[in-house]
Amino acid sequence: MFRIGFGYDVHRLIEGRPLILGGVEIPHSVGLDGHSDADVLIHAVIDAILGALSAGDIGQHFPDTDPAYKGVSSLLLLKTASDLMHDKGFQLNNLDATIVTQEPKLAPHLNDMRENFAEILSGPIDRINIKATTSEHLGFCGKGEGMEAFAVVSLTQRSG
Ligand code: MG
Repeated sequence: MFRIGFGYDVHRLIEGRPLILGGVEIPHSVGLDGHSDADVLIHAVIDAILGALSAGDIGQHFPDTDPAYKGVSSLLLLKTASDLMHDKGFQLNNLDATIVTQEPKLAPHLNDMRENFAEILSGPIDRINIKATTSEHLGFCGKGEGMEAFAVVSLTQRSG
């Protein structure tokens, strides 16, 4: 059996927060605001996985009213989603995601992000693709007010 899931997330950029994307801390003057570490990329990927599993959304699994998730690394949330995927009998076929932001340049960090996803999702890195694009100075991403991320995953049934 073959499943596809889609995920989308947005977080606001503010001063005084670290910028963490795909579990990688990236030097920048502002960071993403949120209840957890606000890793917009991982949140989109989690929603894509949950979508493929017909398992609701990230807010149902990790409520932002729950103090347990305050400041938590989204890598831990991704691990929980990954465990759910495996428990339900699926494995990652491939992952493709796009981060939208005007700055900073993310290209030097994309491979580190891929390695994090490969490790936690137990998937081959050559099936994990992370892209970054600007929005040509248009909209909230282009004005530096926030970042958004889109992700699609495909899952296949585990053998054995
Ligand atoms: Mg989020």
